[in-house]
Amino acid sequence: MHKPGTAIPERFPAQDRFARGAQFIAGRLVQGTSGQTHAVVDPATGEEVLNYALAGADDVDAAVAAARAAFPGWAGATPGERSDALHRFAAVLAGRAEDFARAESLQCGKPLKLTREFDVPGTIDNTAFFAGAARHLQGQAAAEYSGDHTSYVRREPIGVIGSIAPWNYPLQMAAWKILPAVAAGNTVVLKPAELTPLTSLMFAQAATDAGIPDGVINIVTGTGREAGEHLVAHPGVAMTSFTGSTGVGKRVAEIATATVKRLHLELGGKTPFVVFDDADLDAAVNGAVAGALINTGQDCTAATRAYVQRPLYEEFVARTAALMESVRLGDPFAAGTDLGPLVSHAQRDRVAGFVERARGYARVVTGGQAPQGDLKSGAYYRPTLVADAPQDSEIVQSEIFGPVLVVLPFDSDDEGIALANDTPYGLAASAWSRDVYRANRATREIKAGCVWVNDHIPIISEMPHGGYKSSGFGKDMSAYSFDEYTQVKHVMFDNTAVVRKDWHRTIFGDR
Ligand code: NAD
Repeated sequence: MHKPGTAIPERFPAQDRFARGAQFIAGRLVQGTSGQTHAVVDPATGEEVLNYALAGADDVDAAVAAARAAFPGWAGATPGERSDALHRFAAVLAGRAEDFARAESLQCGKPLKLTREFDVPGTIDNTAFFAGAARHLQGQAAAEYSGDHTSYVRREPIGVIGSIAPWNYPLQMAAWKILPAVAAGNTVVLKPAELTPLTSLMFAQAATDAGIPDGVINIVTGTGREAGEHLVAHPGVAMTSFTGSTGVGKRVAEIATATVKRLHLELGGKTPFVVFDDADLDAAVNGAVAGALINTGQDCTAATRAYVQRPLYEEFVARTAALMESVRLGDPFAAGTDLGPLVSHAQRDRVAGFVERARGYARVVTGGQAPQGDLKSGAYYRPTLVADAPQDSEIVQSEIFGPVLVVLPFDSDDEGIALANDTPYGLAASAWSRDVYRANRATREIKAGCVWVNDHIPIISEMPHGGYKSSGFGKDMSAYSFDEYTQVKHVMFDNTAVVRKDWHRTIFGDR
């Protein structure tokens, strides 16, 4: 581990980089004016990385004003011009990949190999995808549907999008929120989570450096209650796009509804992992451990509930526990680290609370504690497997957002699918089987926005991501996201040049 006070600037010099402030409004970094400050903390050590002034209502107003001022020019740019700008943006990001990886690892505690191989390349790819997609906004064909008119559809940007993002993948969430919106001609004010503002600010700065006009992308870093609610309620904002917990999503929906805003909600998950008795057990065990522990379990699609058909159950539990025990916790910046800390000590304690309460009704097979020794001061928690919990218990039903997998047995295929569907969430699921008919049935009957077969976690820029049920509605990534960030207008031309039209008889009688 690094030495306090010396190594953080070497890892990422946040205090120098954000000396001018941690708000990005109209193309430059400025200080927040709320009068309150917030500390970004390295969760691997508990040391402060950056103390910054939070945004207040005035900063949100300034960011919305900048976004409104930029809107006519950006919306009026041709798709080719927006595409060129996004291509340049992708190139700037690629040139700064290592810088982004280090900042993301520092503020989140993610191992560098995760940020280098997943968060950052995924974001660059997403940017390149939307650079291409900006030129492919498609509409319905024009035609003479009534016989006397030509109808066509215009797909238009909406205006200023107010976006709110969580802390688990700060860079990717900023990208998912900003890219489809700006590719379609909108401008954006994004509020990242207070814990993890660094890479959203760097993302906006990279856009400016790539020549995206000032005001198209603005970042306000404030609390949810103050800056977040002000952004959602703001009359100058046309749409709210929120990613976060289902509880906060409900509050955001209430506020957005009061001003009749369009709403896109990407909310929590409690993703099932269903293993049928003909599955490749080796693949399922590896998939379960990787799928549960990705990003230290702080992933809305992480495998959280493994349902394993009875003949494989005992062996699955034993092998999954053994594989979990082989995963190496450590310094996110060290080469041999597989798993970093949780994002904060508060999140670690919250996760530990779920496991402690579960001891009263379930069996903790492995983990269930924080490591000691060198890792004691970080927000670490051991990979944890919990068995024998009732289906209706808290640990099976609630989103934990930590490295905790619950495993339960099932008998018939009907039962496995029913249990998978038995939570309020519906973000993602996976089915493990070598029988194409069984697997295909699971993909049809599991109510979730994504179902993997014989894998768990991969995402791809071309394909949509979004929830069913209490996991929200609307899609991130892919061309489907344009349905959220555009509105369609019917344009209808009269082709007859007749003064008194046929339908006027309903007004003028038979004269
Ligand atoms: P959170 O709901 O606590 O916070 C999310 C964001 O909302 C933060 O920026 C926060 O400051 C803001 N916020 C809080 N209160 C607010 C309010 N009253 N008004 C407006 N904004 C407010 O979530 P979190 O703890 O940051 O992130 C974890 C959650 O995010 C999990 O539930 C996870 O499943 C979810 N998530 C979902 C997806 C998805 O694609 N569906 C992706 C990532 C994370």
